[in-house]
Amino acid sequence: MQNKPHVESWYAASANQQLAFPPLQGESTADVCIIGGGYTGLSTAIHLRKLGYSVIVLEANKVGWGASGRNGGHVGTGQRADQETLEKMVGLDHAKALWQLGLEAVATVCSLIDEFSIDCELKTGNLHVASKAREQADLIAEVEHLRSVYDYQKIRYVEQQELAQMTSGQGFHGATLDTAARHLHPLNYAIGLARAASETGAVIHEGSRVISYSEGKQVTVNTDAGSVRASYLVLGCNGYLEKLEPRTAGRIMPINNYMLATEPLPEALARQLIRDDTSMSDSLFVIDYWKLSADNRLLFGGGESYTRRFPKDIGRFVRKYMLRIYPELETTRVEYGWGGTLAITLNRMPDFGRLSANTFYAHGYSGHGVPTATLAGKLLAEVISGSAERFDVMASVPSKTFPGGTLLRFPGLVAGMLFYSLRDRLG
Ligand SMILES: Cc1cc2nc3c(=O)[nH]c(=O)nc-3n(C[C@H](O)[C@H](O)[C@H](O)COP(=O)(O)OP(=O)(O)OC[C@H]3O[C@@H](n4cnc5c(N)ncnc54)[C@H](O)[C@@H]3O)c2cc1C
Repeated sequence: MQNKPHVESWYAASANQQLAFPPLQGESTADVCIIGGGYTGLSTAIHLRKLGYSVIVLEANKVGWGASGRNGGHVGTGQRADQETLEKMVGLDHAKALWQLGLEAVATVCSLIDEFSIDCELKTGNLHVASKAREQADLIAEVEHLRSVYDYQKIRYVEQQELAQMTSGQGFHGATLDTAARHLHPLNYAIGLARAASETGAVIHEGSRVISYSEGKQVTVNTDAGSVRASYLVLGCNGYLEKLEPRTAGRIMPINNYMLATEPLPEALARQLIRDDTSMSDSLFVIDYWKLSADNRLLFGGGESYTRRFPKDIGRFVRKYMLRIYPELETTRVEYGWGGTLAITLNRMPDFGRLSANTFYAHGYSGHGVPTATLAGKLLAEVISGSAERFDVMASVPSKTFPGGTLLRFPGLVAGMLFYSLRDRLG
């Protein structure tokens, strides 16, 4: 059985623990079988154990091998879609419930880190910059809306003059500062969740790719070396679902996103890039996002692709996005470049749901999965234990199938994505 190691990245190089869990062998039973050892699967396992369920997690590679061990580490508030869009989509009351769950998602990340003493460089604040002059008014309106309609006072608008004191980044037209957002080391967070799941009694099997399952009163989940019989099944495979579950695959689209890590920067230069050690992101359709590591590397994410192939030299591919913002890094060495696959949805809201009375899934976090996949675990545990209400706040957001469905969704998506990324470049 193939069990791929973590991809080479700054995160893998700075992982603070090496966990190893044996592959599934032979027949096992549990109350719940979870497929996928990322934030969705691990958080579900922890929350189910707290409720007393026996749990087996099957991970094809290593825990945190997928997007959970490779991402930007931004833990944003709210949902991936903005509140005004959500209000139009589902009405004000439902949008308010989604906002509250979005805040709870960040709080859940923080409380798990605290409860299980997870060492993952948790820090505070996100500065979100307008990349186009016309977006300045949108940011001001968004702050006003969140303050007045949602009574959310932890966000404020930052004028261009003040912004210039906070970052040397180029091409910005104002920003919002959200002091309830967090950022962290994503792989160390995933490893910490796996340790916590195991300590609370969940059984984790790495190197255990699920090849099929059958449903019924009991589910039977098969790898090539064993099987698990369980009362419930949870799918937490997100961008790596591939052909395992065709019934949901048409609602999500796997896309690749890329990151680099520079060499460690002198303290003065690091403070010049991001004065207050917040995370930062911009408003482009193909978003740029960045932050500093504990050893003052710039961790910069930018650029996407929509086929299976990753660029040959990822560091070089991402560097051009970084230099557009920080030209002063022209001579700075890029020491790591890596990519990962995440799942997006058409409306950028995650897709939570049930395939039968005892098979549940959550995926399609559309780049907002650090908080939302963690929250998904809590809500999946709730729905399995018989409290569907909060799960359904997420599951009842209307989701659409990509045009072309499971088989033909790629050409339309690629054309659409390329159109919007061209608009980014044209300004
Ligand atoms: C480069 C990049 C940057 C990102 N930046 C951010 C960010 O800054 N903030 C944010 O909120 N989100 C970000 N995201 C998104 C975020 O990482 C994901 O939404 C989140 O990690 C999803 O967690 P997950 O557990 O659902 O999926 P994953 O972490 O992808 O885990 C799925 C797991 O399922 C396993 N699996 C798949 N099929 C099988 C099978 N058949 N049998 C057994 N196991 C299987 C895989 O091996 C994998 O480990 C980013 C993603 C990428 C790729």
